[in-house]
Amino acid sequence: MSETVAYIALGGNVADVEATLRQALAQLDAAPGVRVRRLSRLYWTEAVGGPPGQPQYLNAVAEIATSLDAAQLLRTLQQIERSLGRDRAREVRWGPRTCDLDILLVGRHVVNEPDLTIPHPRLHLRKFVLEGLAQLAPDLEHPVLGKTMSQLLRELDRPGR
Ligand code: ATP
Ligand code: MG
Ligand code: MG
Repeated sequence: MSETVAYIALGGNVADVEATLRQALAQLDAAPGVRVRRLSRLYWTEAVGGPPGQPQYLNAVAEIATSLDAAQLLRTLQQIERSLGRDRAREVRWGPRTCDLDILLVGRHVVNEPDLTIPHPRLHLRKFVLEGLAQLAPDLEHPVLGKTMSQLLRELDRPGR
């Protein structure tokens, strides 16, 4: 079965986030059709958007190899989020959460469906995602924007250049 390399953003800002993210990684690695290959460092970032005054987020990016298609991968991630206590029905958009798992990139695939957009539509605007991506895969090219992860990160640091 052919495998694709994909990148997953992990983030959370409720309870013992480091423990939660480590559990998320263990569950991801244990899921059928998924292997976690590498993990960026874990880093604290200020909350972006959402209600004011929320705690900082702990973020990381994982590189996985997967034989799942993108829709199956999304379902797997959502199951893990639920098992770690996430309850979307009780959340404010971009508000505090135990664990957010987003698909950033799946090979060079481009998906535009109502419930799934790949590459993640806000990837290139988010330092908290690009830091992890640029650490793991600085020369990886964004399949739509045609720029590498390290280029995208530099552009956020120095807008307009
Ligand atoms: P953001 O997308 O800005 O990071 P969020 O992660 O807080 O916001 P969620 O509440 O976790 O948003 O998810 C909202 C919906 O986003 C999900 O139900 C899912 O169908 C959809 N979605 C679309 N593209 C993706 C993607 N690449 N990865 C994860 N979810 C996605
Ligand atoms: Mg998110
Ligand atoms: Mg999400």
